[in-house]
Amino acid sequence: MVTFLDLKKLNNKHREELLKACERVIDSGWYIQGDELSQFENEFASYCGVQHAVGVANGLDALMLVLRAWKEQGKLKDNDKVMVPANTYIASILAITQNNLVPVLVEPNEDTYNLSAAALKDAWEPAVKAILPVHLYGQISPMEEIMAFARSKSLLVLEDCAQSHGASINNIKAGAWGDAAAFSFYPGKNLGALGDAGAITTNDPELAAMLKALRNYGSHKKYENLYVGYNSRLDEMQAALLRVKLPYLETENEARRKIAQRYISDLHNEHIVLPSMSKKAEHVWHLFVIRTKYRTQLQEHLTSSGIQTLIHYPLPPHKQQAYQEYNHLSLPLTEKIHNEVLSLPMDPNMTTEDVDLVIKAVNGFKA
Ligand SMILES: *Cc1c(COP(=O)(O)O)cnc(C)c1O
Repeated sequence: MVTFLDLKKLNNKHREELLKACERVIDSGWYIQGDELSQFENEFASYCGVQHAVGVANGLDALMLVLRAWKEQGKLKDNDKVMVPANTYIASILAITQNNLVPVLVEPNEDTYNLSAAALKDAWEPAVKAILPVHLYGQISPMEEIMAFARSKSLLVLEDCAQSHGASINNIKAGAWGDAAAFSFYPGKNLGALGDAGAITTNDPELAAMLKALRNYGSHKKYENLYVGYNSRLDEMQAALLRVKLPYLETENEARRKIAQRYISDLHNEHIVLPSMSKKAEHVWHLFVIRTKYRTQLQEHLTSSGIQTLIHYPLPPHKQQAYQEYNHLSLPLTEKIHNEVLSLPMDPNMTTEDVDLVIKAVNGFKA
């Protein structure tokens, strides 16, 4: 049996260190907004190559709070439009609509599944005030081109880095390109907590200060509230566990890259399309996503060969019942992607034998 991602094994590798971190937090007697959080924020900011990181409760809140802060600063207002890839996970869109902003759903590039500057140029209209590029499946979007376009139109840029911890272009990491970036540390992400957690990165000190208040009831100082805030704090326990795991992120990303290289060089089947990589960018393979017109059959074939696969994602946001107002939109490329994608096992602890089994099973598939 080849599991998709064995989280228990992943965390067990760091068992002793994780237990020590738990003990440290228990013994400190301080569980919210303490040293572990500020240390993690420093360490994560330095890892990403930015001035500030602000820990929050999850990835959706990270996205949502940045847009909220920009509204508070007067940089965005109700009904402003935000360009976002149509094929993203629904959280990227929720962060927009929950702030009374309007998503402009842009079709991705067919090869990378990410936004391109050309598509943004086509979709641009005067009401657009921000871009929310999503670095999907672990591959960073073409940020040089996207930032140049954003600057030419004075647009804010919020990167969704929930799937791209450590990805980079020219050694500049995801999270260091935009005006701000949102990370999720959901357990299955490349850097995962043992529960919910998230963070925002930015080089803007005023934004960072406002976010620290917004995550804590809008309070910058105990019992004084500057803003109508939220409770979206990253607790000491999760921060301490993330501090254990952050130093292993590069090694685990490298292990993912090795598995992806094997898949790319050894998977041969006329019915599948392999992921394509931009030469300049360092991919971190959050997911290894292939495309096939025979998805149901291939998935059944792999299941019967003992290989677990998943679909990211079966239904695009504009086709969800939650977004009935967008159900009428026709986004053929996005719809085709959602109908054809299949994610193969991708786990830094996969053995050579596991990878061999996946390759053999996919190569043996006949439609
Ligand atoms: C996981 C994910 C999120 C949301 O993160 P949570 O921590 O689950 O709230 C946002 N965007 C993308 C692209 C994601 O994959």
